Amino acid sequence: MDNTRFADLLASGCRALGVQVGEDVGPRLQRLMGELLKWNAKVNLTAITAEEEVLEKHFLDSLAVLPEVTGAASLLDLGAGAGFPGIPLRIALPGLGVTLVDTVGKKVAFIKAAAASLGLQGVRGLHARAEGSPEKEGIPRAEVLIARAFMDLSDWLALAPAYVEPGGRVVAMLGKAQPDAELAARAAERQLRVVSARAYRLPFSGAERQVAVFAKA
Ligand code: SAH
Repeated sequence: MDNTRFADLLASGCRALGVQVGEDVGPRLQRLMGELLKWNAKVNLTAITAEEEVLEKHFLDSLAVLPEVTGAASLLDLGAGAGFPGIPLRIALPGLGVTLVDTVGKKVAFIKAAAASLGLQGVRGLHARAEGSPEKEGIPRAEVLIARAFMDLSDWLALAPAYVEPGGRVVAMLGKAQPDAELAARAAERQLRVVSARAYRLPFSGAERQVAVFAKA
């Protein structure tokens, strides 16, 4: 995909999602795509390999949650895989410190290599398994904890609070939207409350997504 087409698709995707990104974000994401596809030819990082699909399902879906993350000083992305949503969010938010955790060494190796190649300060890749004991696991707590396609909501809300700083929040990126009552019930089970919930659609495929934010009750 040439630079102009990438920039046009990114701009139209961001417009459809209602998010704004700086001018340097496009070139950096394009570079990230190059690194991802280069690595993916050798090590299996993602099943999504068509460029337009990478742009939509990895990059734009990550940027879609900018409203939920903007303003935080630190972000912890658990089960980050090839770096989603943490790396695109850091590219769009230069002041954000991001720790990305995965149990698969080659995925963490990619995260580190991509951050170095893009010159991203404040990105840390951590090879660890999150099981609820951050100190023991060497995983730092953050103001905002996020995960995409990591666990079902109930399990995620059981695990997540241990990794959040006091006053922080837990962000869940969900597939199909869940009714408000369902979110509230899952939150209450874990002594959490729903701060916000927002459904959106990916701009090219129309695929349905939801982002929900939780805090201690
Ligand atoms: N968030 C990425 C990857 C989702 S796949 C994306 O949306 O594209 C889920 C990832 O979680 C896998 O890479 C898997 O290796 C990792 N994972 C599974 N259990 C984990 C755990 N307990 N701690 C850290 N990572 C875990």
